[in-house]
Amino acid sequence: MTRRQFLTLISGASLLFLTACGGISPTATSPPTGTSTRKQDILVVGAGIAGIAAATSLREQGQNVVLLEAKDRIGGRIWTDRSLGPPVDLGAFWLHGSGGGNPIMSLVDQFNLDYIEEDFEDLWLYQDGEVVDGAELDVYFRDLKTVLDGVRELKGGLSQDISMATAIDKLMETEGIAATLEQGMMWRALSEIQVEYAADLSQLSARYWDEDLTFPGNDITFPLGFSQIVQRLSNGLDIRKRHVVTEVSYSSPGVAITTDQGAFDADYAIITLPLGVLQSGDVEFNPGLPPKKLAALDSMAMGTMNKVALHFEEPFWPTEAHCLGNLPESGLEFWSSLPHGTFPVLVALSVGQRAIRFETMADDAVVAELMGSLRHMFRTDVPEPKDWVVTRWHGDPFSRGAYSYVPVGGSLENNEVLEEPVLNRLFFAGEATNQVYPGTVHGAYLSGIRAADRILKLANPN
Ligand SMILES: Cc1cc2nc3c(=O)[nH]c(=O)nc-3n(C[C@H](O)[C@H](O)[C@H](O)COP(=O)(O)OP(=O)(O)OC[C@H]3O[C@@H](n4cnc5c(N)ncnc54)[C@H](O)[C@@H]3O)c2cc1C
Repeated sequence: MTRRQFLTLISGASLLFLTACGGISPTATSPPTGTSTRKQDILVVGAGIAGIAAATSLREQGQNVVLLEAKDRIGGRIWTDRSLGPPVDLGAFWLHGSGGGNPIMSLVDQFNLDYIEEDFEDLWLYQDGEVVDGAELDVYFRDLKTVLDGVRELKGGLSQDISMATAIDKLMETEGIAATLEQGMMWRALSEIQVEYAADLSQLSARYWDEDLTFPGNDITFPLGFSQIVQRLSNGLDIRKRHVVTEVSYSSPGVAITTDQGAFDADYAIITLPLGVLQSGDVEFNPGLPPKKLAALDSMAMGTMNKVALHFEEPFWPTEAHCLGNLPESGLEFWSSLPHGTFPVLVALSVGQRAIRFETMADDAVVAELMGSLRHMFRTDVPEPKDWVVTRWHGDPFSRGAYSYVPVGGSLENNEVLEEPVLNRLFFAGEATNQVYPGTVHGAYLSGIRAADRILKLANPN
């Protein structure tokens, strides 16, 4: 029985259609032996950084690779938008840890890209129209450090997981943080932790908080946008945009993938669908994924972060400011594009429940709420923005959230289970499959390289 015959048996009509359409390797009628050194046909689902990294690596080793991408652009959650004129990163913005070992930094050097070091200390926090002075900010930082050091100790001895909100509450009591300082410290905590994990403190596991690793060195941003990296890296790849994958069929002889534009078959497939998309069931696996993987999917969580880029005629905020916030309004911060360029854009960054609530509102209403915050902060005549762009990552059917986090009771081991190959035909990559650097661009990139390596080893074990 050939691969096609077998796949037709397991998947019925959709695979008959596949046979009619032909795959990326229509002439390969005999199943790969696993020791053959012939070119392998490999389909990569998703042209985000994980898929592009995998495809680049496989192509460099002479394999036939086709990427199937649902959107009309590549990059996925890396998205530099130019609808306002200036480049604005509506997805990933910071390259975390630009020091030794970060593979994205190697690409930045290779492509000779301009970048700027981020200054997270440059925070302008407003309360009742006044800027909170530096000495008071230092106290917030100090208190937060004390509390988080306490959480690190506490979580080691937990018999049962608790949320970060509960852990911080406990520590505030123990450390006797004064109520007057609590608001400022909490603003800082929410800014640091919620933004990092794209979830509310009440949703985040205390046990697994801060268990992921980082590369050394400062975070950097790109004045011309993060998308440059995926654009440059994807040069020459065969990417089929506007191909929405609806079904993935697999068996020991190979893989067949159905899209809304036709069907494809191959020896192997790398699935880089975001966690939220896998959880939604929008893409059918045939046969279904192993119970262990399904259980892992159930125990993982996708966080939400949204951005609203407000483009003004002229800046009305301190032009040197990087980040601005409004006490006690937590879970919302404004990042100025001025340190990165000359465009007067403020990017409002919201996470967790606020970000999800924004998705239920019309753009005008979201902008009006943000303008209310800015007017409360500055207490002056803050002008209306001339245009804006609003993201909805949670509602995006091809992302279904911003990035993964470990919920209360969850575990980072689930990321490893999500990554496990199935039948040595389906391989999984994407930020949520990385146990060490989840939720990041570099984590997604490394997961793509790992999936490619797995296939190369199978295809050519010597
Ligand atoms: C608002 C926001 C801010 C962020 N900030 C940072 C940051 O500052 N630093 C950082 O390191 N990380 C950040 N991240 C996270 C980072 O962007 C992601 O971890 C990383 O880009 C994920 O890459 P990926 O390849 O795993 O997934 P994706 O980029 O999501 O790629 C998956 C691809 O699959 C496609 N797809 C989905 N469904 C289908 C289908 N049915 N058929 C075909 N194709 C499909 C999608 O369109 C997408 O292109 C941020 C993310 C968001 C949303």
